Amino acid sequence: MTEAPNAKPLADLVIEGAHILTSDPDQPEIAKGRIAVTGDTLTFVGPAEGPAPAAKRLIDGSGLMATPGLVNVHTHAILTMVRGVAEDMGFAPAYTPGVPQGHMVSPEEAVALARLGALEAMKFGSTLINDTYVHVDETLPAQGALGLRVTACGRIHDVDFSGVSKGRWAYDMAIGKETLGKALALAQRFHGAMNGRLGVQLAAHAPDTCSTDFLRTIRETRDQTGLIVATHLAQSRIEVERIKERDGKTPAELLEELGLLNNRLIAAHCIFMTDSDIEKAGKGGIHVAHIPKGNATGGTMAPTLRLRGAGANLCLSTDNMHADMVELMRWALCVGRLQEGKIDDDWQPEDVFAMATINGARAMGMADSIGSLTQGKKADIVLFDVAQPHFIPMTDALGNLVHVGQGRDVRHVIIDGVITVENGRATLADEGAIMREAEMAARALWRRAAAD
Ligand SMILES: [Zn+2]
Repeated sequence: MTEAPNAKPLADLVIEGAHILTSDPDQPEIAKGRIAVTGDTLTFVGPAEGPAPAAKRLIDGSGLMATPGLVNVHTHAILTMVRGVAEDMGFAPAYTPGVPQGHMVSPEEAVALARLGALEAMKFGSTLINDTYVHVDETLPAQGALGLRVTACGRIHDVDFSGVSKGRWAYDMAIGKETLGKALALAQRFHGAMNGRLGVQLAAHAPDTCSTDFLRTIRETRDQTGLIVATHLAQSRIEVERIKERDGKTPAELLEELGLLNNRLIAAHCIFMTDSDIEKAGKGGIHVAHIPKGNATGGTMAPTLRLRGAGANLCLSTDNMHADMVELMRWALCVGRLQEGKIDDDWQPEDVFAMATINGARAMGMADSIGSLTQGKKADIVLFDVAQPHFIPMTDALGNLVHVGQGRDVRHVIIDGVITVENGRATLADEGAIMREAEMAARALWRRAAAD
């Protein structure tokens, strides 16, 4: 990057000559493009014709591919603490004995781990993460300080989590009141903060960890506040069996009856769904946080094609896997094709790129402001270094991105008009300190979990 010499800057930032994939159907691909940013807004996206406009900052885009910021609609940054181990133990750490769990994490440890997960996600091209776990009143501003967009919430539940990994589902309204109250206080404090980069959702943990009455309260709270509800849905056989025993229904039937199964819901996993569940979810227009890698790691696949066909909006998310949304596009494509046993129009790079960008923005209720490189939207831009052997030849840029790209190929990230990653390094944080503090926190937690 060089400082442009012109005395009268017209834009704060101009990226000149990059290969642009916009995720905007009006001009999906621009081979030699120009992007101009003023303040937090994209003021021009189009072909680089004529001399570059004057700008405070000029990025030479030759050898770079520009995409919209990637939108990760469901993650738990703190669960970086269990990576490399929990993947081989059980379907979710909260249900697995001997593994560090949310109720064991101190606020300081939560911040250390949440910053690690956020740093990793941003360096790999995510510009928004929808992150839920514990001690969120401290982790949300700490993650936001990296320059990232973060929507967050503590886990809302009324089950006593300390019993779940041991097979005890005891509900306590006092726990529900406390977790929901904290979410509302969080929204009061942070929803729309940091120039709109921070947001809050109502993260109802799962149908089985919220009692039926409590789910009804969450629906009422959604209606009163206008906040989006996020949950895990049909993520395990345990959940399905528990809801059948408790309510005599499937989890999707339960949520439909309670008025939750609609386009104000982001539902993660959606694996164990009946044909009728899929119809209901599609008709309701839910947003599916598809977790192809996490599901496959647990030996499962979600019926994504049928959910999409029924009307659901498919998005992408890493859940508790590592935060590489580029790799995840490839997982979604390959898992989708494995399910169909063929290559056809149902699963193409365009589909998974939309899932990682504009579909995610839609799920977050932010399709008007992010999710594509469109003039007038927020300046959330990822620049990939494509002057590398694995991107040559660039016959089909999107094909290359989906089939050979990785988060590690990200060179620069711009969020809300601010360069937050430059030459692969975070600009607003001490990466070394974040890694050291997270390593110490994870080690302490594993020691305590072994003793639990
Ligand atoms: Zn999850």
